[in-house]
Amino acid sequence: MEIKDNHSKMMKHYLSIKEKYKDIIIFYRLGDFYEMFYEDAILCSKVLDLTLTEKACGLDEKAPMCGVPFKACETYLRKLISLGYKVGICEQLTGPNENYKQIIERDVVRIVTPGTIMEEGILEDKCNNFIACVYKDKNYYSAFADISTGEAFVSKCSNLNELNNTLLNFHPAEIISFGECILDSFELGCIKNDIVPKFSAYAENKFAYKLCELVVQNQFKTKNLKAYELNDHGEVIALGALFNYLYDTQKRNLEYFNTIKYYHNEDYLFLDINAKRNLELTETFKDRKVKGSLLWLLDQTLTSMGGRLLRAYIDKPLRKESEIKYRQNGVEELFKNIVKRETLIEILKNVNDLERLSAKIAYGSLTPRDCLGILNSIKILPTLKQELSTLKSDILIDTYNNLMDLSNIEYKLSNCMMEKLESNNFKEGHFVKDGYDEVLDGYRKDKATAIDWIGELENVEKQETGIKNLRIIFNNNNGYSIEVTNSQKGLVPYRYIRKQTLLNAERYTTEELKSLEEKVLNSEKLAVEREIEIYEDLKQSLKNEILNLQKTSQAIAQLDVLLSLATVAIKNNYTKPTISNSIDEIRILEGRHPVVEALLKKGDFVANDTYLNSTSDRTMIITGPNMAGKSTYMRQVALICFMAHIGSFVPAKEAEICLLDRIFTRIGASDDLIYGQSTFMVEMTEVATILAYATDKSLVLLDEVGRGTATYDGLSIAWSVMDYISNNLHAKTLFSTHYHELTELEGVLDGVKNYRISVKEFNNSIIFLRKIVRGGALKSFGIEVASLAGLPKSVIENAQEILKKLELKDVTRQENLNSTSEKNFSPKYLEAINILKELNLERTSPIEAFSVLSSIKERIDE
Ligand code: ADP
Repeated sequence: MEIKDNHSKMMKHYLSIKEKYKDIIIFYRLGDFYEMFYEDAILCSKVLDLTLTEKACGLDEKAPMCGVPFKACETYLRKLISLGYKVGICEQLTGPNENYKQIIERDVVRIVTPGTIMEEGILEDKCNNFIACVYKDKNYYSAFADISTGEAFVSKCSNLNELNNTLLNFHPAEIISFGECILDSFELGCIKNDIVPKFSAYAENKFAYKLCELVVQNQFKTKNLKAYELNDHGEVIALGALFNYLYDTQKRNLEYFNTIKYYHNEDYLFLDINAKRNLELTETFKDRKVKGSLLWLLDQTLTSMGGRLLRAYIDKPLRKESEIKYRQNGVEELFKNIVKRETLIEILKNVNDLERLSAKIAYGSLTPRDCLGILNSIKILPTLKQELSTLKSDILIDTYNNLMDLSNIEYKLSNCMMEKLESNNFKEGHFVKDGYDEVLDGYRKDKATAIDWIGELENVEKQETGIKNLRIIFNNNNGYSIEVTNSQKGLVPYRYIRKQTLLNAERYTTEELKSLEEKVLNSEKLAVEREIEIYEDLKQSLKNEILNLQKTSQAIAQLDVLLSLATVAIKNNYTKPTISNSIDEIRILEGRHPVVEALLKKGDFVANDTYLNSTSDRTMIITGPNMAGKSTYMRQVALICFMAHIGSFVPAKEAEICLLDRIFTRIGASDDLIYGQSTFMVEMTEVATILAYATDKSLVLLDEVGRGTATYDGLSIAWSVMDYISNNLHAKTLFSTHYHELTELEGVLDGVKNYRISVKEFNNSIIFLRKIVRGGALKSFGIEVASLAGLPKSVIENAQEILKKLELKDVTRQENLNSTSEKNFSPKYLEAINILKELNLERTSPIEAFSVLSSIKERIDE
């Protein structure tokens, strides 16, 4: 809408703001509401389901309008943000003028975007909310910031794949970039996979090096960017542009960001998006819920910041032995020390989200309730320090040392803040305790005295007028009034000034009451002003301690995570894995799948061993019927290795785990049809990635590779892939397959060993034993499993007949498969071998042996 001469003053102002923020929905504050006008109103009335009304705006035609109450705006804000809109909050900067003539000043104080949320009701407690900025030259640079906590990271990647993975590890809620980079963004897996809901283009000139350098230098108060490892222009640009965007949208200084952490990809165990999803690390595969994931199982954290740190542990598993052991030893110390653990848990139960509260101090959104939250959290510090002082592991000693002395603000807050708050808005006052400030006490006393006098006045007026039921009442709109019921109206003296007529009564004031009322209001006003001054002073004291608050909250988060891992380890009977650079083995004794075990009845999970190295035992080919437990077993091995890399104990009796560089998975038939790829295509793309990146330090899980195409195609692909991994990559590999033909590979390819998940055949049916044993399975048991699933008997019998015929027909086909190991094997060969294998010589008479031989020969001759 263009601004027209006839537009009212307010509407002209609104439209001038709207012109500046074209692609942003403006929440325009009018009294207790945020109103939207014109296009914004039409859009919001639809998406937020609000009634569209109109407002006179000076023109003949009224302006479309809808609004949301400012006190309940979070729900609406959340909806708009989740739909990818940005919202500009336009506040009243001055109070209403005395005579209401001048227009109230308003301006956009902040733009809320998915990556810049501060509202508690919208932020998830146990999740960081990062915003990322991507910049590309020869390399791919990314910078991350969480304005709700004050954390900032920078990273450099040499290819898109790595960048995708880095982005994935931070789960940014919003990515900003410009021009060329936008094109690439469509290649970004996280956007394609809907992991990042919002991509924001940002002006190219904001990515100018000089500007960005200045921003970074000012923000982090240093000229020496190399001290933060910012060696390339790209890193400075990504970070500088990100902060520029934050200033533009937040419109305030963000001084609580005071350090940059460099995120080196090679420091972390690499899992791509497939592996993360397949292993259900932070959400389940099917419905993307936390419940049922590894995070859900391990999360016994007591604070939100601990919850976020645990998630970060899982998002960024370690690769350095020393760092893993640093954590492990802390978990072990708490694991062994029951009394200490219980005591620490009790203490942490009283801690609030100190990290986000600290950010709110600097951000300027602190409320009186937040102050109480800070107070409650830091109150426990002396006891916590005392309890930690006897612990001996390095990580817990560091935790102890990082709990800073915050007694000065504890003293101030506890003296100042009322325990029960009347309002959660500093501007309304009523949060400072009596006795904290003499001046304030004086105003409060004046007010109380005036109110007492008003009480007195009621008695005096009763006596003087003889009106027995005369009352002096107070309400917010009309202040103090003398109320007289209609029946007594005749007794009212002349000096009474009428204020209001009600159905049954009349309200009056007097000169005396007016002057007392003014005393009350005036001292109240002065008291509130004084409280605001006190708040400013309090805020400054808190600001001075921000670094210490941040450090302390990180230490508490650390302790919380270690406690959580120790608690889960005790509860589920986990063990401390030996992890070392010098071993080249995965040796697990009685390993269990942590989540499946937790969901089954206690004791129902069947434990299994694992042995892998990168020489004689680098590939396990696992056969067994559907539902036997192959996927569970493979995932259990990967999860045990993964848990060892985050510093956790593991579900096993004993475990020795070598340091891994990557974990790859190709599990299940995940359908990616929405993105135009068939299941088979997805499967092959995933396999291609594995073949491109796996090394002898990787763990590879391949589940039913080649299943998505015709049998012989699939079999040949599976065979060839195995060959490549085993001979070229030397990765430790678990390969499950229902092609029992692949068990032929043992002895042919180096390092391949056959295993099967055992079942027992019984009365034409099977019983799952869940135990993994050496040797391949001889048949797939598909029909038996179908029978267990309740298919009608006639269908099962028919299937058995068809199978027999097909198997016979198979043998007559003249297809040969060429493997890369240059070994010819045809279905006939396999069939012959199988027949021979299944032959029990002890129970075969010479005649029977002759007939078996002749039947094989006959088929080969055909
Ligand atoms: P497959 O991959 O062979 O088809 P799954 O691994 O999906 O089989 O296992 C099927 C089900 O069997 C699982 O959902 C789980 O409930 C159960 N299961 C698997 N392994 C075990 C085990 N070791 N102990 C107990 N139950 C198991």
